[in-house]
Amino acid sequence: MARYTESVCRFCRREQEKLFLKGDRCYTDKCSVERRNYPPGQHGQGRQKKTDYGMQLREKQKVKHIYGLLEKQFRNYAHLAEQKKGVTGDNLLRILESRLDNIVFRMGFARSRNEARHLVSHGHFLVNGRKVNVPSFLTKPGMVVEVKESSRTLEAIDDALKTVSRRGVPEWVQVDPAAFKGTVKALPTREELPPNIREQLIVEFYSK
Ligand code: SF4
Repeated sequence: MARYTESVCRFCRREQEKLFLKGDRCYTDKCSVERRNYPPGQHGQGRQKKTDYGMQLREKQKVKHIYGLLEKQFRNYAHLAEQKKGVTGDNLLRILESRLDNIVFRMGFARSRNEARHLVSHGHFLVNGRKVNVPSFLTKPGMVVEVKESSRTLEAIDDALKTVSRRGVPEWVQVDPAAFKGTVKALPTREELPPNIREQLIVEFYSK
C-alpha cells in the first residue's frame, strides 16, 4: 500500500493550520504549528501569493492530508461525490467520513486516522460481526463496528480510549467503550463536520 513517508507535521505547516495528524502530540506544545507557524522550505517565510487556483489546490491538499489519502483515491471520491444526488461538497465529506478508518478514529479506538488505518489493516476490527481489514471500507448507518475480542488488550486502543475525551465523540456515532463497540447512527450533516473545511473549493478544483 502506497503511503507518505515524510513528516506529516510538514502538511500542517504548509497549511499553517493544525490538521491533528499525530494524535496526542497535536495537543502539546511540541506541535510544529505551535512552534513554527510558517510554511516549510527555503521560501517558507516569504510572501505567499494566493490565486483562486492556489486556494483551491491548498484546500484539496489540506483535506486529502486530514484523511490521509493519496491523490488518486481522493480524486475517485470527488468523482463519486459528483455522481450522487445532493450537494457535491457535502457528499464528498460524507464519503470521507464513512471510511472505516475514519469511523474507528471518530469512535475513539485510535488516536489518529493514521493509527486507525494501521489497526484496521491488521484485522483488529469487526463490522457487523465480520472481520474487515480494508481501511477504505465505506460504512453505512446502522453498522456496528467493534474491536475483535483478542485485540481488546492492545495498548494503542486502551490509550486511545483514555484520551478520546480531548476531542470528543461526535453525535452521529454511538460508542460503548466498555464493550469496545460502536454504532454509526447516521452519516454526519454538514453542521456536524469541522467548519474549517471549504469543500466548495475542492469541487471547483476538480470541475476544471
Ligand atoms: Fe499537525 Fe499534530 Fe504535527 Fe501539530 S503535532 S503539526 S497538529 S500533525
